[in-house]
Amino acid sequence: MKGFEYLQKELDEMQEQGTFRHLIPLESAQGSKVTIKGKEVIQLSSNNYLGLTSHPKMKDAADKANADYGVGTGSVRTIAGTLKMHEDFEEKLAKFKHTEAALVFQSGFTTNQGVLSSILGKEDVVISDELNHASIIDGIRLTKADRKIYKHVDMESLESALKESENYRTKLIVTDGVFSMDGNIAPLPEIVELAERYNALVMVDDAHASGVLGDNGRGTVNHFNLDGRVHIQVGTLSKAIGVLGGYVASTKTLRDYLIHKGRPFLFSTSHPPAVTAANDAAIDVLLEEPELIEKLWDNTKFFKDGLNALGFDTGISETPVTPVMVGDDALTHKFSDELFEAGVFAQGIVFPTVPRGKGRIRTIVTAEHSKEELQEALNAFEKVGKKLGIL
Ligand code: PMP
Repeated sequence: MKGFEYLQKELDEMQEQGTFRHLIPLESAQGSKVTIKGKEVIQLSSNNYLGLTSHPKMKDAADKANADYGVGTGSVRTIAGTLKMHEDFEEKLAKFKHTEAALVFQSGFTTNQGVLSSILGKEDVVISDELNHASIIDGIRLTKADRKIYKHVDMESLESALKESENYRTKLIVTDGVFSMDGNIAPLPEIVELAERYNALVMVDDAHASGVLGDNGRGTVNHFNLDGRVHIQVGTLSKAIGVLGGYVASTKTLRDYLIHKGRPFLFSTSHPPAVTAANDAAIDVLLEEPELIEKLWDNTKFFKDGLNALGFDTGISETPVTPVMVGDDALTHKFSDELFEAGVFAQGIVFPTVPRGKGRIRTIVTAEHSKEELQEALNAFEKVGKKLGIL
């Protein structure tokens, strides 16, 4: 069919530049080892931090919900698609996060879009870290608010943006809690202090911190003992929680407002019962099995120390998100391909996801990995690193 030649041209250019991406289908369940192209490899690229994608309690809860309530809801939340279990889960989540209320969106991505686009108008300003996630950037693009970008985790840069923002109705500072490509933690105590000094609101995206940081995985705010001082916590239910969805944990006012104005919430069908039941069971797992988070951090330390001892540069990572810096884009892809041959699935991340020349293999270990698997992965990194002259 004719009509898309201009798109094909762009794809052909990507092919020439080596940036064209093929999707890589898993032929097994997600786990510490997965099957790809018929080969069993160690998985180091998922966000399945706690291994919850296959947790028996969560699978049982999903099976039961499927059997009792069917596979879909048949409506958006605001018309006929709110099940009691949706609201029960939101109450449980709010309690877990130590907030007044919570609201679930279809994904973390649409949560950021829905929150930012609805609560900010032309009288407002949003002040955003330059390395915030794409969904925050897109959410900001959807608002009529003025926008200021501060240098990554640079508090002087944030303060000067705040100083220039005196005359707005609402000033909203927004930051990732854990940055997804470098694995560093936002300096939230300093951000909150500045926000309080300049009368601004704070929004934190805990996509990579939910289930990872704080007591029982309550996130960055709890990790820094800032409960009650951060206005909006958003996050995903799709990474450590192991299922699907996004949430906002905040005040009852914000929840009520988003029910009326959050466009992805208003105009997109609610989560299937199995998804909500599994998300709900995940909170119980976080409360009942804190050893999973301990194992995640123990594995993270083992793997990161191992990489550093070999001589790899893991940048500024402080969390399980551990980049192995390579530099050149083509070399990064080559590194990833060679790792696969050596039995490790670890994807290369290059421009435009990270700045040009900052290509890296982004690894994330999980609570499911055994030390033997991680040692095997370290051996593969050593072999390939030496072969490609990175070590
Ligand atoms: N925010 C951040 C910081 C993320 O890393 C991601 C996941 N890529 C999202 C939001 C989006 O979450 P989800 O995958 O649930 O849409």
